[in-house]
Formats: sequence, structure tokens, C-alpha cells
Amino acid sequence: MSASAAGRGRILVMGGGAVGLAFAAACADEVRVLEAGPARPGTDPEGFDIRVFALSGGTRDFLDGIGAWGRMPPSRIAPVTRMEVFGDDGASRLAFAAPPGRPLAWIAEGNRMTRAIEEAARGRGVAIETDCRWKSVAARAGRAQVELEDGTTLEADLLVGADGAQSRVRAELALAAHAKRYPETAVVAHFRCEKPPAGVARQWFRRDGILAWLPLPGDRMSIVWSAREGLADELAALDPEALARRVRDAGGAALGDLSLDSAVARFPLRLVRVPRIAVPGAVLVGDAAHGVHPLAGQGVNLGFQDAAGLARTLAARSPLERPGDYALLRRHERLRHADVAAMQFVTDRLEWLFGIDAPIAALARNAGLRAVEGLPWAKRLLAAQAMR
Ligand SMILES: Cc1cc2nc3c(=O)[nH]c(=O)nc-3n(C[C@H](O)[C@H](O)[C@H](O)COP(=O)(O)OP(=O)(O)OC[C@H]3O[C@@H](n4cnc5c(N)ncnc54)[C@H](O)[C@@H]3O)c2cc1C
Repeated sequence: MSASAAGRGRILVMGGGAVGLAFAAACADEVRVLEAGPARPGTDPEGFDIRVFALSGGTRDFLDGIGAWGRMPPSRIAPVTRMEVFGDDGASRLAFAAPPGRPLAWIAEGNRMTRAIEEAARGRGVAIETDCRWKSVAARAGRAQVELEDGTTLEADLLVGADGAQSRVRAELALAAHAKRYPETAVVAHFRCEKPPAGVARQWFRRDGILAWLPLPGDRMSIVWSAREGLADELAALDPEALARRVRDAGGAALGDLSLDSAVARFPLRLVRVPRIAVPGAVLVGDAAHGVHPLAGQGVNLGFQDAAGLARTLAARSPLERPGDYALLRRHERLRHADVAAMQFVTDRLEWLFGIDAPIAALARNAGLRAVEGLPWAKRLLAAQAMR
């Protein structure tokens, strides 16, 4: 029996980022979102948001299902039809293309995507409050509470912590988080290219870090350079022309000359493992529940899977269950564990393997790329994985 037959529960979502809002839009219960930040500003009609995401096929279907995908302007989304991955010996390469009719991924801007999800959530009757200041949260089976700074107490059947990597909800609920700081900082910037990227995403595993070129519409592309140690400082200190030359040369001038088309942003990178994401009356989703290295571009995709999975588990509850029941939340926790642990394992091991300086490690990683390149079935598997 569905949630509606069981009676609608009341749910408070702490954090109105992409994942919290997507859960709110997907959930059949009565949802209120409390966001600490200000109301979302209008988007610049011309400039590209510095945050862009590679969205998987599963994410596209989910965002379509909640009515958000169609609200994103198609002219601002770049389908990825081919991926090329390069080793650090100048020769090893792995390339795979999308099967006909469906791209491997889509590159979309963070601000337009989140705005579209917010509009979809509002259209489904979700109440969203911004500039929210709260003093404390508490949860136990059957009742969750948020005490606001103005003295008001809000009550619900379930509290969903969607307040990002530094989650205060996670800390207040005493859910342990084990963080490992990677030796890289992500340097992010957009460029105009002499030759349009034409839907090809490229990634270089280099001795000094991992460089990704993501296609944007037209002649633009976005880079994420997970740069080791002092390199991030060095790149950020370059003048625009010198940075453009450095990025062009690091990618073998695959798109000809480049010119910088944005500010240069930096993001520290962490692996965050959260062994338990649920307590009676509360559960975590998105970056509050896991942090992964961006080399596979999967963080927000994992978060959307949390959102979709939690909404499904709640909708499938029996008439005897309430949304904050621990058994129900544990069911969701178990369902998400394998996916999150696998993604954390793969990205962490790749970061480690390509960070080792020893020549034997260089041989192994480049041989690995060449071996997969020679196995059509393995490439089909990787392409299918990228599209999930
Ligand atoms: C360089 C880089 C590149 C990336 N590229 C990709 C990619 O290509 N594909 C991909 O899938 N992922 C990518 N990621 C990961 C992605 O950015 C995150 O996984 C995603 O933004 C997490 O979304 P979220 O909604 O969980 O958290 P957030 O986006 O952090 O949202 C949290 C929200 O909670 C609010 N908040 C914070 N504290 C409180 C509080 N105390 N009370 C109430 N509200 C609060 C915040 O204001 C914010 O609105 C990348 C990450 C990095 C660093």
C-alpha cells in the first residue's frame, strides 16, 4: 500500500541545495524545506555558471520524472557523446562512445539545474523557506524537532539532513563522519576554444593531478583540474593568457587555442565516509551522507539516487509504518550502502594509483588503460556504467 493510503507524513528537509530540493519534489508526503542561505538569485542570461555537473542517464530520468529536466533550457545543456581518457605516458588511451540515440552524460549548469528543481518542488506544493536560522535539531522515533533562533519549534515525523558536506545536522545527531583530505585541490574554470568540443569529454591522469575537459554548448568548455600540492596555487596565480596556454598544452592542444571565459574557482577535495546515515526520526542525503573525489563526476548523481531511493522507500511503506520509523530508514540505508561504498572505493583507489610516483605503478596504470581499450566488452560495460 502506498504512502497516501497510509496517511501523509510531515517531513522537514534541512538544506535547499539540489539534492534536498529534489527529494522534496519526489516525496509524496507533506514537505517543508529549511534553507540557511538567501533566496536563489536570478541567473545571468549570458554567462555560464562556474559550477557545472556531469549528469548521468539515471539522473536525467529522475529529474524528468519530478518535472525539473524540462525546465532547464536545452540550449544550455551539452550532451556528452564520447569520452577519452589518457594515461601519463603519452601513449595510453581509452575511448568510448555512446550507443546511438542516448548520450553518455549531460553537462548542465549548477544554478539553472537547482532553479529548475526548486520550481518543480514549488509546483508540487513544497514549502521552501530561505534565510532560516536554527538553534538545534532532535530526533527520535515518531518525532523530529527543529528549534529556530526566534524560539519557534517545528515538529515533523521525519527530519532529512541535506545540508551538504559540512552538515551541521549530521553533527547535531551525533552521526560519525570520517574525512580524508586529498592532496589535490580542484581548480575550475571555463574557456572558449578555437575548435568546439562537439560533445567530447576528455580526462588526463597526470603525475601532477587529474585534468578533465567537459564540453559546454558551442565553443565553450569547462575544466576541473584536481591539482596536486602547490600546482593549484601556481595555476590560480597565472594571468588569463598564461593559464589558457597551460591548460591548452596539458591537453595536447586538442581544441586548439583557448581563452579564459570565467573566474577561476578552487575547491578542496575530501573523501567523507558516514557509516550510519540514519537514526530513529532522521536520515541524511547528498553530500551530508557521503563525499567522493570528483574525478568520476558522480557526487550529485549519488545524491539524486539518495533522494529518489528515499522517496521510493517512504512511498512503499505499509499503513502501519510512519516516515521516521527506524526500520524503514534502515531499509533505505542498506539499499544505498553498496552504491555509495563502490563509488568511494573506485574513486579513492584511482586517485591513489595515479598519485604514486614509482615507475612500476606508472606501468601498471597505463597498461590498465591499454588493456581496457583492447576489450570491447569492458568498454561497453564502462559506457553503460557512465550512463546509469
Ligand atoms: C570541483 C567539483 C566538481 C564536481 N563535479 C561534479 C559532477 O560533474 N557531477 C556530479 O555528480 N557531482 C560533482 N561534484 C559534486 C557535487 O558538487 C556535490 O555532490 C553536490 O553539490 C552536493 O549537493 P547537496 O545538495 O548534497 O549539497 P550542497 O550543494 O552543498 O547543498 C547544501 C545546501 O544546504 C544549505 N545549508 C548548509 N548548512 C545548512 C544548515 N545548517 N541549515 C540549513 N541549510 C543549510 C546550503 O546553503 C546549501 O543550499 C563536484 C564537486 C566538486 C568539488
